[in-house]
Amino acid sequence: MSAYDTNNIFAKILRGEIPSHRVYEDEATVAFMDVMPQAEGHVLVLPKAPSRNILDVEPAILASLIVTVRKIAVAAKAAFDADGITIMQFNEAPAGQSVFHLHFHVIPRREGIALRP
Ligand code: ADP
Repeated sequence: MSAYDTNNIFAKILRGEIPSHRVYEDEATVAFMDVMPQAEGHVLVLPKAPSRNILDVEPAILASLIVTVRKIAVAAKAAFDADGITIMQFNEAPAGQSVFHLHFHVIPRREGIALRP
């Protein structure tokens, strides 16, 4: 597995070099809106600490991250009056990862509406 690249787009967002629509932040984690949402209310949840994906993250960082993922899932379900929440997370390019800073997708779902590709 490759090393963490400090110039990945989420690292730039975390450093404030690229704008994002932040919806949550605490000492260890950040959440912002996905620029190409697969459904209304698609949020990305990241650790501030540099991990490439779930294969290299410290367990303590992952523990704080999943707590934020749940907070965002509960908040997004209420905010978007969703019928359910999809949580996705990809590790390495063959598995669908395109930005190499660990993140979870939190996506509100409505009955009968498929995710946009
Ligand atoms: P995939 O691109 O296959 O969903 P990832 O799990 O790596 O793979 O997801 C990266 C996500 O980051 C995509 O949903 C993409 O729309 C989103 N994204 C890319 N650039 C930005 C950005 N500048 N701000 C917010 N979201 C972004």
